[in-house]
Amino acid sequence: MNKRYQVVIVGGGPVGVALAVELGQRGISCALVERRTEPQRIPKGQNLTQRSMEHFHAWGVADQVRAVRILPPDFPMSGIVAYHDLSNEYWYAPPLREIVNSYYFEENERLPQYLVEDVLRQRLAQLGAVTTRFGWAAEKIEQDGSGVRVTAVEQGGAAREIIEADYVVGCDGGHSLVRRQLGIERSGSDFDQLMVLALFRSRDLHEKLKRFPPRSTYRVLNPDLQGYWQFFGRVDVGESWFFHSPVPADTTQDNYDFLALLHKAAGFSFICDFDYVGFWDLRIAVADRYQVGRAFIAGDAAHSHPPYGGYGLNNGLDDVANLGWKLAAKLQGWGDDALLQSYTAERQPIFMETGRDFIGAGIQRDRIFLDRYSPDRDRVEFEKAWREHEGAAAPRVLTYEPHYEGSPIVFGPPGSASSARGSHTFKARAGHHLPPQPLSSGRNVFEELGPDFTLLAFDGEDQTVAAFEKAARSLGVPLKIVCDGYQGGRTAYEAKLMLIRPDRYIAWSGDRTPADAAAIIAQAVGRA
Ligand SMILES: Cc1cc2nc3c(=O)[nH]c(=O)nc-3n(C[C@H](O)[C@H](O)[C@H](O)COP(=O)(O)OP(=O)(O)OC[C@H]3O[C@@H](n4cnc5c(N)ncnc54)[C@H](O)[C@@H]3O)c2cc1C
Repeated sequence: MNKRYQVVIVGGGPVGVALAVELGQRGISCALVERRTEPQRIPKGQNLTQRSMEHFHAWGVADQVRAVRILPPDFPMSGIVAYHDLSNEYWYAPPLREIVNSYYFEENERLPQYLVEDVLRQRLAQLGAVTTRFGWAAEKIEQDGSGVRVTAVEQGGAAREIIEADYVVGCDGGHSLVRRQLGIERSGSDFDQLMVLALFRSRDLHEKLKRFPPRSTYRVLNPDLQGYWQFFGRVDVGESWFFHSPVPADTTQDNYDFLALLHKAAGFSFICDFDYVGFWDLRIAVADRYQVGRAFIAGDAAHSHPPYGGYGLNNGLDDVANLGWKLAAKLQGWGDDALLQSYTAERQPIFMETGRDFIGAGIQRDRIFLDRYSPDRDRVEFEKAWREHEGAAAPRVLTYEPHYEGSPIVFGPPGSASSARGSHTFKARAGHHLPPQPLSSGRNVFEELGPDFTLLAFDGEDQTVAAFEKAARSLGVPLKIVCDGYQGGRTAYEAKLMLIRPDRYIAWSGDRTPADAAAIIAQAVGRA
């Protein structure tokens, strides 16, 4: 590797490989350094949001991802929540993210992360702009005003290389070397709780859970566990499972009875064979910034969290969609440093709130509920509170709508802030995700978007379109124009004109020809 690259990516887990695909598709030359040769065959990261599936669509692999799904096509992805154990009379089956499917171009999906990684690696192999170094580890990151240098060593060999690039992105997981060498601090909550992750096979468990409607996951709320979950998840239907649960801090693979733990969480005994037992620390940690000079962090390197609610991988892929086009814009000369800085401004508050208000608050809410209510102490009071617990599940899904209203590069309402909390609507709102709509051609608007900026003009007058075209040309910003006379889209969006970013967020919307189209485009690429 003695050539200079535009971007070097440290860490080729799902987030690093996805970033290499995003940049490679944009023609950006990248080197990807990953210390493992193969993805870890642990069935984590299963719960994929509609947004993640939209990213896969943009990377040309949505169909391939769905094709490798293990669960049968119509098997529900949502789960059961049970009080105390899975044999208890108190349980409910809450809705999952499927209730917001209509607001996205792709529906949510469920499959093990390593299968997604396989698909992304196959896509990567088709992109000539990306050079991969699997089986290599980064040791040192240096930067100055003109570029970055990453020292990488071959695992199990003596080879060592210095890789030079314009920018480096650390996608190297929760223990990120890049983050540590950049001196980026993290804040959050360390629950000081060790968790076990066990993989096992059991047809017996499958048979014994038939009292429930078919579901993919089973969450146990045990009053002894302070709001921390015990969680069974299906890998397939009938045999393979994963399970996580709190365990004492000094637990090792050899000093603990994991079978007894499984039986206690189930509330009955069942036959099973273990395939794997590992541990993770229950911690929410968010980096206080995602950029230092020419170096960035993304995915678990920027935000670590328990797998409660399936926010981890999904947020990492959202980081990629946000950062990828900005790096490309800067490297291709049509975006400015302010555009790169908007990556931290837009993404960091989202995870800060996700960790605090959705994950941390959920643990706290369950802890208070379990402390306060018990069917043994007061059955009537418990049943009322249990119904409220169930009723709170759908509103949480409906209000999780990450948006960048407060971003300096979008035209959000005055005084607004970027947030993980929002609402779902088809109305076009600057700073929010673009909802799907059919066009008069019968194709969805998502099938017409360009890879860079797109102007959607419903009943647009020629002079408006010409003003945006001229402004984009003068600023060198790639812009695709999509004109449509169809009333349906315009009515649902409540706007005639919308400037859509490459990550399918709305930068600006309006009904009239703006006085200065160039000012709108310039602000959207950090050149205001
Ligand atoms: C049990 C469990 C269930 C989960 N379920 C979900 C879910 O349903 N939905 C969801 O969204 N998320 C889920 N997650 C979280 C999800 O798995 C992570 O958020 C995801 O793996 C993050 O991807 P990443 O690429 O950022 O980091 P990682 O997957 O940690 O990848 C980092 C990569 O960097 C490499 N690396 C590290 N240091 C170096 C170095 N110095 N040089 C070269 N390479 C290096 C590592 O080998 C690794 O491959 C779950 C996690 C667990 C543990």
